[in-house]
Amino acid sequence: MHRIKHSYINGEFVTPHGQEWFDLHNPSTEEVIGQVRLGDAEDARRAIAAAQAAFPAWSRSTREERIAALQRMHRAVAAREDALMEAILTEYGAPLVRGRWMATYPADVIAQAIDTLESFAFEEQVGSARVIQSPVGVAGLITPWNSNAGFICNKLATALAAGCTAVIKPSEMSAMQTQIVASALHEAGLPPGIFNIVNGRGEVVGEEIARNPGVAKISFTGSSAVGQHLVATGAATMKRVTLELGGKSPTVVLADADFPAIMPLVLQAGFVNSGQACIAGTRILVPRSRLTEFEQIAKEAVSHFRSGDPRSADTDIGPMVSRKQWERVQDYIRIGQQEGATLLAGGEGLPDGMRAGWFVKPTIFTHANNQVRIAREEIFGPVLTIIPYEDEADAIAIANDTRYGLSALVLGKNPESCERVALQIDSGRVLVNTLAHEPRAPFGGFKHSGLGREMGRWGMCAYLEPKTLLTSRN
Ligand code: NAD
Repeated sequence: MHRIKHSYINGEFVTPHGQEWFDLHNPSTEEVIGQVRLGDAEDARRAIAAAQAAFPAWSRSTREERIAALQRMHRAVAAREDALMEAILTEYGAPLVRGRWMATYPADVIAQAIDTLESFAFEEQVGSARVIQSPVGVAGLITPWNSNAGFICNKLATALAAGCTAVIKPSEMSAMQTQIVASALHEAGLPPGIFNIVNGRGEVVGEEIARNPGVAKISFTGSSAVGQHLVATGAATMKRVTLELGGKSPTVVLADADFPAIMPLVLQAGFVNSGQACIAGTRILVPRSRLTEFEQIAKEAVSHFRSGDPRSADTDIGPMVSRKQWERVQDYIRIGQQEGATLLAGGEGLPDGMRAGWFVKPTIFTHANNQVRIAREEIFGPVLTIIPYEDEADAIAIANDTRYGLSALVLGKNPESCERVALQIDSGRVLVNTLAHEPRAPFGGFKHSGLGREMGRWGMCAYLEPKTLLTSRN
């Protein structure tokens, strides 16, 4: 039984002022595997005060000092890959291949921040002015449960690279990952106060970060509803806000596509991270003239997808993170049927032979239209919806008829048609015949999928204010 007793404030592990203990579960067995002591608003205020006190010195640190600190962070986090892997499997239930990626990503993303910092132009001459990029101040970093360690490391490394100090409010459901990252960062010997971590509830610790005038900027990854709330709350203190929110991403299958060849990409895009991914390709747009053929190939392919024990090498889809999330996904499977969509695969209840664990059958609906709730709302589970379209213009219109715009996938044989379609989709990222990732490129969403961008130089700029300096020549 893990007992996580401490928050991390001003370079020390401290007992929180908050008294509440929160249960941690293994979603594969439903057992309670630990408890974390949650901080409260007072803990958040202490952490913010520590970050404010550390800001003047850190904001004046040189590029070389920041790179050296980030390199120590990188070494310490990389050394904990196996511990992170174990925590990710136990408290989150990511299948092995995904879990390994999630365990290496925290160190990788720190290395990417170092790369960006090495070549970043903090100053440029514009006409007669010098434009100097200055750190905004204390950054509040709020993360979700679906890749907690990775989001902490990405946001923190970028904030520190820019010269900001930080208060981190990680997902309370991923406290084991947070604990491992905190111990690595402590070992890295960073100046006290430049980063602080307070475990706690969103509506308590997160809310204090959003309201407190000592926090200049919020970087948030999570649901669109909480993101909107943070913009509204942060407005009172004119906070800069970066939001990475939800998605309902289209996978556009063009009329010339080779269905057997593209089907692995269609299913991987849809079921990525057990469907608990903001980028998941959950709306599959298929030419009506080839719908039956697509359905047959999809049905055969999905029959090989296994939902079950994340530690088994045969597993493609792990459990949902919580009972609440499992019930929410079951609700949507019922809603889809009530709305008249047809189940092509999967459905309600546990996968055959399973008695415990928050597992969902890999589920695909077909004969849906883009107006039903399963096509419009983010389900955050392994539930995909096939939507037929008439022609290319109709496919683009359906792809864009959503309040989201985070990611899209275009699949087809003719590169020109693929690019023509890709360029007309309103989305922060469009992938063509690939699921590749480019960490130097900006990541973020159009519309309700977010505000601003993370990664690369765009991510750095989100923690900086340009200052124009004009000097008399006399
Ligand atoms: P969530 O919005 O419920 O919670 C995210 C974080 O916000 C948690 O740490 C939570 O405690 C905190 N929070 C909750 N209420 C708050 C409040 N009032 N003030 C401040 N903080 C508050 O999201 P979740 O369920 O943890 O994660 C799933 C969501 O995250 C999905 O919608 C998913 O699409 C989104 N997501 C987006 C990306 C992206 O990069 N765009 C990546 C991963 C997940």
